[in-house]
Amino acid sequence: MIPSVLPTYNRAPLTFVKGEGAWLTEADGRRFLDLGAGIAVNALGHAHPALVGALTEQAHALWHVSNLYHIPQQQALADKLVDLTFADTVFFTNSGTESCELAVKMARKYFYDQGQPERVEIITFDGSFHGRSSAGIAAAGSEKMTKGFGPLLPGFVHVAFGDLDGVTNAISDKTAAIMIEPIQGEGGIRPVPDVELKALRQICDDNGLLLILDEVQCGVGRTGKLFAHEWAGITPDIMMVAKGIGGGFPLGAVLATEAAASGMTAGTHGSTYGGNPLGCAVGCAVLDHVATPAFLDGVNRKAGLLRQKLEGLVADHPDVFEEVRGSGLMLGLKCNAPNADVVAAGYDNEVITVPAADNVIRLLPPLTLTEDDIAQAQIRLEKAARQVQDQLASA
Ligand SMILES: *Cc1c(COP(=O)(O)O)cnc(C)c1O
Repeated sequence: MIPSVLPTYNRAPLTFVKGEGAWLTEADGRRFLDLGAGIAVNALGHAHPALVGALTEQAHALWHVSNLYHIPQQQALADKLVDLTFADTVFFTNSGTESCELAVKMARKYFYDQGQPERVEIITFDGSFHGRSSAGIAAAGSEKMTKGFGPLLPGFVHVAFGDLDGVTNAISDKTAAIMIEPIQGEGGIRPVPDVELKALRQICDDNGLLLILDEVQCGVGRTGKLFAHEWAGITPDIMMVAKGIGGGFPLGAVLATEAAASGMTAGTHGSTYGGNPLGCAVGCAVLDHVATPAFLDGVNRKAGLLRQKLEGLVADHPDVFEEVRGSGLMLGLKCNAPNADVVAAGYDNEVITVPAADNVIRLLPPLTLTEDDIAQAQIRLEKAARQVQDQLASA
């Protein structure tokens, strides 16, 4: 008999009932160090007082009114994002894949309004992930996500990760945009080198294309800058955001330049819940914390410390790990042992990591991780690594 919850998830045998900072309490009372943060969502950890305060204060005042009316919290969050980034304008969604939907629509409408309605194609990359909507799975294109769900939304051209010649060859008079994650998350923490991001920006400029960055996972302070593309010194035309921006409340956004957004006039897009007072009140509180030099300096310092511990772990357990990759607090351990075994051994030692493609385990801890938490991360990951090594030896 089918379970009452549609069985689309492979769940770990864990049920968390409470969270505080980087720690989760299981129903049986065990305390787990959370190095996954709900897949880069709980940017300020669990039950951060500022977020609890923002959410409950708004909950007492007003939950929902609809975008038929002005929403001051939405206006405030948009103003902050415009102040802090390349963007001139923002649309709020509830998730990453909804942000993908709008990014695709916006790019196509831009060219339609420019009198180039044939420009509909978007170049994307193997190993990418843009969510599970019809546009998201077609954009990423992997068979794992698309098989059986045809006909797929047309208009995506896939090139190999890191293949700039492939990008140039894929451009035609039908091309509208290039869409890329500055660091592939689900794909296995694969950073796009700064020189490549710069080159993609140049290719877009030379060919009159829009650059769409998917910063759903790598954005909102995760890499030690507010957005990852800042490290490369470039700006996109359109950017997809979600995950960390809501700190655990479902919230996403599409940020755009005035030119890129010019086709999105009244009536061309909408969302019932997008930009609701609850989500935007929380989003404002997240940004007020993350978007300060002191907070981002802290992320960089802690990232350096954590990375140093991970390098030691890899050096001590070459049978288990191959290398550390990633940027800031978006780190991956490429495994030699099966990554599922390493994640499971982490559960046995009360530390949470997240598997990714390419046999990688991801570390995406709350950005508020403390130095004590990092010391605990080292101890627990070390135990997990030893356990996997013993399993390998006895196999
Ligand atoms: C998680 C993710 C998405 C999809 O976000 P949802 O909120 O699950 O729809 C899109 N792009 C990237 C890079 C992601 O990591």
